[in-house]
Amino acid sequence: MKNKNVAPPLVGGGTTNQHQQASRTMHTKPPMIVLLFTIVMCTTLLMSLPGCPNVTDPFADAPVIERNGQPRRLTTDIVSLGPLTAGQVINLTVAGDTVQAFLLLQPDTAVPGSGIVIGGGPEGIATNYRVPADNDYFVFVQLDPNADIAAAEVTLTATDGDATFTPPAAQRVLVEFADGYLTNPGLFDPDSGTQEMQDFLAEISGQVQDGIIERLNDIFAGTPIEIFDGRDGQPDAPFSTLTFSPDRVELDPTELSIDAVAPPLTDNPECDDLVIFGEVLSNAVGQDSGNQIPDDDAVVYVGSFQGRGDACQTSAINSVNNIVNGLAQTGAHEIGHLVGLYHVALFDIMDRSPSMAFQRELEFMRGQILVEQAIETTDGRTDVATIVLTNIVQDPTIYFNSVFASPDN
Ligand SMILES: [Zn+2]
Repeated sequence: MKNKNVAPPLVGGGTTNQHQQASRTMHTKPPMIVLLFTIVMCTTLLMSLPGCPNVTDPFADAPVIERNGQPRRLTTDIVSLGPLTAGQVINLTVAGDTVQAFLLLQPDTAVPGSGIVIGGGPEGIATNYRVPADNDYFVFVQLDPNADIAAAEVTLTATDGDATFTPPAAQRVLVEFADGYLTNPGLFDPDSGTQEMQDFLAEISGQVQDGIIERLNDIFAGTPIEIFDGRDGQPDAPFSTLTFSPDRVELDPTELSIDAVAPPLTDNPECDDLVIFGEVLSNAVGQDSGNQIPDDDAVVYVGSFQGRGDACQTSAINSVNNIVNGLAQTGAHEIGHLVGLYHVALFDIMDRSPSMAFQRELEFMRGQILVEQAIETTDGRTDVATIVLTNIVQDPTIYFNSVFASPDN
């Protein structure tokens, strides 16, 4: 990831003046250094620092929503469901034109004033949830970042759910490799690549495929996510599919794509074409919040990892090991979105930039979640601003234990 063209963080951007609302810190892409700085400055524990949003504990102040089946108009983006009991099933519908998804939260015991994500769901669809533990529970409504909850027509309907509902024990993911995924063009640059390079990529295609499957199995070992190699046939339904495609996909400059950034490690301005390196298909929000869709699909666009022309070829792809790591970890990132993980502001698998994926072994870590906002630039393009939700924390281990059936739920 490059750190040039770094815009200053717009601390306190968004709608943080209403104290029941999730605390947000916004900056425009790219910048990892600014991002980390912003987070350190404005975690909830440090809210009194100059420049940080003046936010009290939104969980202490959240209005309580009765579970009476009546739609309730919301004016804050964090509301309380009150105390719930392990094993209890609740049914929630969050609806509104500007709603992107909702997240279920528990108070974060590690950082008072923060909530930890333990489930979620899409807009407008009644969703059952089995409560994993006795605790207080909250709903965070993820709005289009340009919307204002106080002005938006957002309703939440809460009722007792179907007592027989059980969450799935696992998410099966079939991993497939399209023909020529590494060569057509894949990591081959048709503008300046040589026949020798293309032959080499063809030669290592099977080895890279084996390596990616092995690395994905390693990454998800001990989690409810089960990896299946497409060469062995299909697993039992339902399953999600991750496909490694040879395509290079340039970003439509008028659209927001959460996984579009410049190709890895290109230092020349002329190489800054934004490409999409992967995406969850048929889901405009970018991730399957709460893993409510057990048979959704995602793709890694291998062609997007290579620049075009001598000056833009990336050095990230300089060994079989880097190729395996980079593509496997990008695949793991998309699988993360398939089961509902958000981006986090860390050098981990849910980092937005694919560059890190080529450089070292990454893992899933606990961190504040990010959401993306489309911003029109003066020359008519759409840029992406990343908004750190400073009091909403994602811990993949806790999340997996909560959205999948376990001995506890
Ligand atoms: Zn992503």
